[in-house]
Amino acid sequence: AYDFAERVGRVEPSATLAIGNAAAELEADGVDVVDLSVGEPDFPTPENVVRAGQESMESGHTGYTSSNGIPELKEAIAGKLRDDGVDAEAGEVIVTPGAKQALYEVVQTLIDEGDEVVLLDPAWVSYEAMVKLAGGDLSRVDLAPHDFQLEPALDALGQAVSDDTELLVVNSPANPTGAVFSDAALEGVRDLAVEHDIAVISDEIYEQITYGVEPTSLGSLDGMADRTITVNGFSKAYSMTGWRLGYFHAKGDLVSQAGKLHSHSVSCATNFVQHAGVEALGNTETAVDQMVEAFRDRRDLVLDLLAEHGVEPPRPDGAFYMMLPVADDDSTWAEDAIEQGHVATVPGSAFGAPGYARISYAASEERLREGIGRLADGGFFD
Ligand code: PLP
Repeated sequence: AYDFAERVGRVEPSATLAIGNAAAELEADGVDVVDLSVGEPDFPTPENVVRAGQESMESGHTGYTSSNGIPELKEAIAGKLRDDGVDAEAGEVIVTPGAKQALYEVVQTLIDEGDEVVLLDPAWVSYEAMVKLAGGDLSRVDLAPHDFQLEPALDALGQAVSDDTELLVVNSPANPTGAVFSDAALEGVRDLAVEHDIAVISDEIYEQITYGVEPTSLGSLDGMADRTITVNGFSKAYSMTGWRLGYFHAKGDLVSQAGKLHSHSVSCATNFVQHAGVEALGNTETAVDQMVEAFRDRRDLVLDLLAEHGVEPPRPDGAFYMMLPVADDDSTWAEDAIEQGHVATVPGSAFGAPGYARISYAASEERLREGIGRLADGGFFD
């Protein structure tokens, strides 16, 4: 009865969703599945942030806010960006229900039918879908031959971009690889972006989750202030995935243009959630440090356990993912891993990286040991 819009036919439902469904079906049959496919921290939201949200709701912050966000939060975000070396003011920020919505609005605002967008593979699945929904054309640079690092792939990136390129998406620390790009890599991006007049989205949602490296914010580099859209959110650093809170920052007219889309779609991010966001930005240093320390221990544990079975993935320096080198047919591997081994992973093909499977180590040490043990016992590393 419905005549669907052509644009929704261009995209597929997310691969992680399919894995989640398979896991749910097995669990409904009473099977214990070790789920290493999820993209969220396994910690509760810090208590003081929860309290701030509750108090805000109780004190009546339950109506609409101004579309781009409450002044206190936009100020706090601009201050955080300035700490990262980005020249930012509150008026250049839009607060969104999650970083995903921020990315969606930016892509919709910049990309017309036929515009070229360059992605670095393996890439988070939604970038591709967002570009396709906007009608853009994708061009991809494969980082897999370079252990997922960008610096050794700069020549390839130079080949991929041209004066026709409208937008480049950089995500460091990266999902799904955990790679943190070097300063030299980001400077290489800057040189190409300036040469070809390209706008760059810097998705920094995992920026606080790093192990012994300090990620540089792309927008802080000379020449990048007017062409970088910095996207970030609260989901990962503060374990707030379900609160839905994120933002983007850009200089110039982008905020007023994207602001039209924002106000005509979501109106604003949830009022009391924005107040909780102020608390998250201001008073969570210890909680974040504890989570990051736990992720680091788990990364090290997983690397040790894998090494015992002769599996040596590129060592991630950030986020809570790693890419296991698996069979050429990673989709079948991941399907078998869940159906026979009862371990849920995401096939690398979903991210443009066939031959790998992504695991998330945002799980307890006990479950990580169990999951890797099952994969080993099931012959999945042979
Ligand atoms: N960007 C990347 C790279 C992600 O991995 C995610 C979540 O998985 C997001 C953005 C979106 O996060 P949220 O919408 O929860 O803020």
